[in-house]
Amino acid sequence: MAQKNYYETLGVDKKASKDEIKKAFYKLAAKYHPDKKTGDEAKFKEINEAYQVLSNDQKRKEYDTYGQTFSGAGSNASGGPGAGGFGAGQGFGGFDFSGFQQGGDMNFDFEDLGDIFGDIFGGFGGGGRAKTKRGRDMSLEMDISFEESIFGVERNVLISKVSTCKTCHGSGGKPGTKMETCPKCNGKGKINDIKRTIFGAMQSVKTCDECHGSGKVPKEKCETCHGAGVLNTKEDIKISVPPGINNGEVLRMSGMGEAVQGGQTGDLYIKIFVKPNKIWKREGNDLIMTQDIKLTDAILGGKYVIDAIDGKLEFEIPKGVSPNDILKVKGRGVPSMQNKNHRGDALIKINILIPKKLSKKAEGLIEDLKKEGL
Ligand SMILES: [Zn+2]
Ligand SMILES: [Zn+2]
Repeated sequence: MAQKNYYETLGVDKKASKDEIKKAFYKLAAKYHPDKKTGDEAKFKEINEAYQVLSNDQKRKEYDTYGQTFSGAGSNASGGPGAGGFGAGQGFGGFDFSGFQQGGDMNFDFEDLGDIFGDIFGGFGGGGRAKTKRGRDMSLEMDISFEESIFGVERNVLISKVSTCKTCHGSGGKPGTKMETCPKCNGKGKINDIKRTIFGAMQSVKTCDECHGSGKVPKEKCETCHGAGVLNTKEDIKISVPPGINNGEVLRMSGMGEAVQGGQTGDLYIKIFVKPNKIWKREGNDLIMTQDIKLTDAILGGKYVIDAIDGKLEFEIPKGVSPNDILKVKGRGVPSMQNKNHRGDALIKINILIPKKLSKKAEGLIEDLKKEGL
């Protein structure tokens, strides 16, 4: 296929700033928008494709280097909404509206702009992607002990949120009620909507907000949620923290966030804070601690029993151990998150206690050792 020149498409220099690219795009988009007299759908698509790439630092870099992009919309020469840029629940990932908002000199409704692009791209090729409504994501923080971080823990948390109604399972209808044709859209599931935008007055087709596109509404409303399908609740949620979690890691519980009428439920994110342990520290999947031992044990060797995270831990000090030597007890560390049956090791760092005071007798014995050449 022919190589596209995105800079030419937008009529900007290769060294154009983000701002210049943005301005060029909006000027051209306003001119070629298919609903305008000067409109040209093919041209509009091209402009948009160029903008998708050049407005994104990563994609622009790829394009400058390789003449194409590797991720998401823009490289999609067949037109269409671009596999990666749109959809994904949120709709308009590829557009950078936020920066434009700060530009100041142009004044229009950003939500409208989203709708316009949404409708246009949704319409391309027929049966395009509909914008999916999505409930709010929620997040919470959770403190757990060091031991719980090693072996995992289950906790129940009471969360206030908007949930799907349990009586009607989100339909908004009284259980067993008949479904009727939606009076707002006459069963089409879509309604015409006229908006004033920078491109002039534009007509677009929107999903009906009464039936959420299904074209049907229940004859009798659910008594629990008064037909909303969702309601404010306190929900008891069981959170399973897997073994081996690290301080600061975030768990994601898909679909456990807030519900929204006629849409997808958001996610729940749980940030884990692990309280440190006084004796043991974590190093990857190993646990490490420092053990004081007697000078004679260092020389003659000996057995020690200490408290591990999971009960007693017995280990042998080899004869002639040196300060800072690390003894390894296999399989008494942190369970691997990939394979619960595999655990890291317990590592014991040796600290030899040199006596500060000696009895007369002990001093005599040490003197004898000295004579031995030790
Ligand atoms: Zn209900
Ligand atoms: Zn309707």
